[in-house]
Amino acid sequence: MTQTITVIRGDGIGPEIMDATLHVLDSMNLGLQYEFADAGLVALEKHGELLPQATLDSIRKNRIALKSPLTTPVGEGFSSINVELRKRFDLYANVRPAKSFPNTKSRFPDGVDLITVRENTEGAYIGEGQSLSEDGETALLTQKVTRRGSERIVRYAFDLARKTGRKKVTVVHKANILKSTSGLFLKTARTVAAEYPDIECNEMIVDNTCMQLVMRPEQFDIIVTTNLFGDIISDLCAGLVGGLGLAPGANIGTDAAIFEAVHGTAPDIAGQGKANPCALLLGAAQMLDHLGQTEKAERLRAAIIATLEAKDSLTPDLGGSGNTMSFSQAIASWI
Ligand code: ATP
Ligand code: MG
Repeated sequence: MTQTITVIRGDGIGPEIMDATLHVLDSMNLGLQYEFADAGLVALEKHGELLPQATLDSIRKNRIALKSPLTTPVGEGFSSINVELRKRFDLYANVRPAKSFPNTKSRFPDGVDLITVRENTEGAYIGEGQSLSEDGETALLTQKVTRRGSERIVRYAFDLARKTGRKKVTVVHKANILKSTSGLFLKTARTVAAEYPDIECNEMIVDNTCMQLVMRPEQFDIIVTTNLFGDIISDLCAGLVGGLGLAPGANIGTDAAIFEAVHGTAPDIAGQGKANPCALLLGAAQMLDHLGQTEKAERLRAAIIATLEAKDSLTPDLGGSGNTMSFSQAIASWI
């Protein structure tokens, strides 16, 4: 069976890590066909717009995209192309695994293996109703949480637990203070949790969650939370396992899903062959899981782990003297 995916090579280190990633995927006989599409600065230069219609059409048709980081220039109509993509395709679930890998800078070499499931479409993060009074003294923001939005994200988290054999979902909230918004999220979560008696569910206030994550990360399995809390917590979790170079993310909706690296375009090292391709490769592994190719996804992750264990051609951020392509060639050879 062949599956066509939209491939967005992106800006900064984007093209380098995408070439490296496709090199590894090509070595796996996945039956994938790539449809290349532009977005970001490169699209602005080539087509005069950041997010061309052809790119949106390609994602809509293929329903799956693998995307490198994008630059959103200031004053070009969007505050962020990534946020715009999430909106256009209603990609309501942001799924970010955080797992310790060998020979990386994790402070918890044995302990961390968790997934943050972040609501991606509502809450304070969206910036709805933002305004600043004329005298500059008062700023306002509307925060909207809906039962439907809460229900679908919590359901996603519990279904993910079942699908991946995970045992526990922690609902992270601030319902003691934000009684209406976070309160509705928590109340909805309790209703959904009752439908999954086979999965343990606990509740934790967001500030305590941050402390617990730093002190005893092994107590977490899947975390589900609202948009802004999820934004902060998932970066915290990336830090627990040694930083951005190994942190992938998926943005999943009913009609489309976009897989990516969590990090940005890293202009400071672009074009130098120094970029670590692992985050995007792990994003590709999430994509394979999503496509039902779980065995291949596991094989890809195992090859990354073997390469890290052997310290084979690692990029400078991992303390190695390899480069983006030699690292990916090493990973491909472990496959
Ligand atoms: P953007 O504005 O697109 O977010 P940025 O300058 O914030 O770009 P990030 O990508 O967020 O850059 O990265 C922050 C730091 O981490 C940079 O110093 C960058 O070099 C480093 N970094 C990010 N991704 C990688 C990677 N894949 N491999 C190696 N270093 C990386
Ligand atoms: Mg950044």
